[in-house]
Amino acid sequence: MNKRDMKFETLCLHADENARDEWGTVNQPICQAATFVHKGTDVPSEFSYSRLSNPTRAHLENTVAVLEGGAAAFAFSTGMAALNCVMQLFTPPAHFIASEDLYGGSLRLFNCLKNLGYTFDFVDTGDICAVKKLINKNTKAIYCETPSNPLMQVSDIAALADVAKKNGLMLIVDNTFLTPYYQQPVKLGADIVIHSGTKYLGGHNDTLAGFAVVNSAGLAEKIKYIANTNGSCLAPFDCFLIERGIKTLPVRMDRISSNAEKIAHWLRSRKDVKKVYYAGFEDHAGYAVSRKQSTGFGGMISFEAESKALAEKILNNVKVFQYAESLGGVESLITYPMMQTHKDLSEEERNRRGINDRFLRISTGIENIEDLLADLEQAFEK
Ligand SMILES: *Cc1c(COP(=O)(O)O)cnc(C)c1O
Repeated sequence: MNKRDMKFETLCLHADENARDEWGTVNQPICQAATFVHKGTDVPSEFSYSRLSNPTRAHLENTVAVLEGGAAAFAFSTGMAALNCVMQLFTPPAHFIASEDLYGGSLRLFNCLKNLGYTFDFVDTGDICAVKKLINKNTKAIYCETPSNPLMQVSDIAALADVAKKNGLMLIVDNTFLTPYYQQPVKLGADIVIHSGTKYLGGHNDTLAGFAVVNSAGLAEKIKYIANTNGSCLAPFDCFLIERGIKTLPVRMDRISSNAEKIAHWLRSRKDVKKVYYAGFEDHAGYAVSRKQSTGFGGMISFEAESKALAEKILNNVKVFQYAESLGGVESLITYPMMQTHKDLSEEERNRRGINDRFLRISTGIENIEDLLADLEQAFEK
């Protein structure tokens, strides 16, 4: 069967059709090697040194490139390493227009880059007019997260791609939250897709990883050069773990999303919850755009409890949910963005955006929904 005819779930297992070692193993074994024998001075060798490429990593990168519909994918030690590498495509005084609601680590990197002469404007990238107004002669790219972290704001990827193309900019999308199972930004016009593979792609809260997926051979050459130079590639064993995670991505995402939908509605029905942020609500401002560009809503929910005391009570009393940073794994997690992911924002900025001392973020896992709801119920009431 041709790869082009396979559905997403099948591709998660069989996207890299060239992968078949000499023993005929069903899975791709780990090639734990740093360096490779050259066959002769005039014989090109596929692999030479594992910083540049490694069979286990190549297999994973081929899989991710196919799933995202990109020309090539590169695997990094973390999502931040992937983003850092992508930013090195640009030279100061490059200017970027970025979503104002962003993963805290990405904001931190952008702040570091300001010291090197890069410039940034932060805006709701769901507002196309606002984005257009910020374009100046140094603007090189639009950087967007959709849905965003932690406020679940939705941006129209195709509309942003249109603005980018007309103005000679690149569009970079962090697709960590929805994964290619639900959203494929390259197909909507993005030039580069970033992933924290630590989250849903790996999916088991057991390893860190990152990806950059590009839409052209030209960009692939550039990223390959920078990645090899930086040396923040993903190690073979971690590649194996992420590949293994990807095999079950669709079944995990189905359960995670269905759990999230039920929990979001449960939270919304409570009098002691002031606001629930969830992209799957029909009255969410970005709902129509979500329906157009993605096929699911994922497992992320944020909410504002009525008081700081209630927020703390929930964090201290959950038993099935775990009070921990990160997201996207099989275990349900609950986190306190003010104290963790968004600690580096000023208090004023956090309060302006609603990331206050009553604000919590949930990443649903694959546990039984009745256990998850019962756990929240007891933690709220205790
Ligand atoms: C976690 C995360 C990152 C950073 O990835 P790491 O693997 O932790 O370096 C980037 N973007 C989003 C949306 C994330 O959730």
